[in-house]
Amino acid sequence: MTEHKLLVGGKWQQGTGPLITSSNPATGNIVAEFNGASVADVNQAVARGKLAMNDPAWRDLKPHQRADYLHRIANGLSENIEKIATIQTMDTGKCLSETRALAQSAAGTFRYMAAALETLEDAVTPSRGDFLTMSVYEPMGVIGAITPWNSPIASDAQKVAPALAAGNAVVVKSAEWTPLVSLEFGRICMEAGLPEGLLSILPGKGSVVGDALVRHPDIKKISFTGGTSTGRGIARIAADKLMPVSLELGGKSPTIVFEDADIDHAINGIMYGVFSSTGQSCIAGSRLFVAEKIYQEFVDELVARTKTLNVGLPDDAKTQVAPMVTMAHRNSVADYVDVARAEGATVLCGGKSPEGGIYETGAFYMPTILSGLDNKARTCQEEIFGPVLVVMPFEDEGDLIEQANDSIYGLACGLWTRDYKKAHAFSRKINTGTVWINTYKQFSISTPFGGTKDSGLGREKGKDGIRAYMNQKSIYWGLNEAPLPWSNVKD
Ligand code: NAD
Repeated sequence: MTEHKLLVGGKWQQGTGPLITSSNPATGNIVAEFNGASVADVNQAVARGKLAMNDPAWRDLKPHQRADYLHRIANGLSENIEKIATIQTMDTGKCLSETRALAQSAAGTFRYMAAALETLEDAVTPSRGDFLTMSVYEPMGVIGAITPWNSPIASDAQKVAPALAAGNAVVVKSAEWTPLVSLEFGRICMEAGLPEGLLSILPGKGSVVGDALVRHPDIKKISFTGGTSTGRGIARIAADKLMPVSLELGGKSPTIVFEDADIDHAINGIMYGVFSSTGQSCIAGSRLFVAEKIYQEFVDELVARTKTLNVGLPDDAKTQVAPMVTMAHRNSVADYVDVARAEGATVLCGGKSPEGGIYETGAFYMPTILSGLDNKARTCQEEIFGPVLVVMPFEDEGDLIEQANDSIYGLACGLWTRDYKKAHAFSRKINTGTVWINTYKQFSISTPFGGTKDSGLGREKGKDGIRAYMNQKSIYWGLNEAPLPWSNVKD
């Protein structure tokens, strides 16, 4: 067990909040216990952030000079992939192969935002008079970034890279359950030479530390990733402050397999889409609609292959389904499967924790497939955030889009078909932020991401990702001394 200090406005200091504990979900062992952040730490972090971002040493940097800091952070992340991956695996229970990929993607995010920053342009707009008109962008101030436990390094980077690129300071409120990788991320940023004050990493209790950050008068934007009810509460506070927020929230994403799909490819994609990350993914494809004509054959094969997935320790290269983040979360997933049983579901595979040996101490749950429910069932409407898939046959394609859209969420959708016209038509009718056609759970930092409906507001990633952390300003330059309309008025 190691001691951990918090990064408070660029200085490493003891947290002054209550103890927080990180335990390894694979073994149940406690790996770190230390004081998390308090409201006083938030206040200090925001005050230091405000000073640092107004310091000419940061404020007056040219874009290529600021981009240089982002490149150095990217290099620091690349040089520490193994260390970041090991910490995040210990903290979250995710497979090492996945946490390595997340660390690489965090480095890629910094490189992309550095490049985007160097190529961002202000505009000279078409003028409607004897003046030159410009539209320029400026930093907002101190940004609050609130991140969840499921992919902390990637979520932190997706917020911190564009917010710093835009010239702001950032206070990260990382999740209480998984504090370690965000602190390591902070260490790498500071070792890259980031000026003091610009970054804080404050793991701590959401309802206290996160709430104080949202309410702080000097926080000028909140970028939040987490659950829908938390996001809605943040939006209410933001409304009172008239503060912009971006909200990346929950999902209950539909996947549709049409009769003409490449079955083998679809089965692989569906298993990956819902069971990778042990289903703890906002975009998990957890509602599966299969064309009636191929339903039985398809589901039989899907279940057979799901039974062969390796459930095991996260540092075993063969593991495909690692433990869940905590025992409490595993139990909540098990409770949902009991709800499904009570709703009349048939458990086609899984539906329990594996038993014996390594499984006794870790937060494991078997990949689970349920049938016999319709889309109105609670199990189809509520986010379970675990390795649970509901399969449903469909006969009528006319009614299908209504069923797929019949959800409070609108994050993602998967379509499996060889018919490009059908794929196009469905992709335009489905009300989600992302559609994957003959693939699933693939990402590019260059492609914006976000949700509709209860899945959120705003977009992250892409070139405009930096603009989301900037205020737009218009400038008019008079070009001559011609009198303005009222200057001719005589007494
Ligand atoms: P959560 O909402 O409980 O917590 C997210 C973060 O918010 C944590 O840091 C938490 O401490 C903080 N928080 C909690 N209460 C707060 C409050 N009152 N004020 C301010 N901050 C507060 O979510 P979680 O359980 O950590 O994460 C899982 C959820 O995140 C799922 O719903 C998942 O779908 C969603 N998620 C969405 C995306 C996306 O990009 N759309 C990505 C990952 C996770």
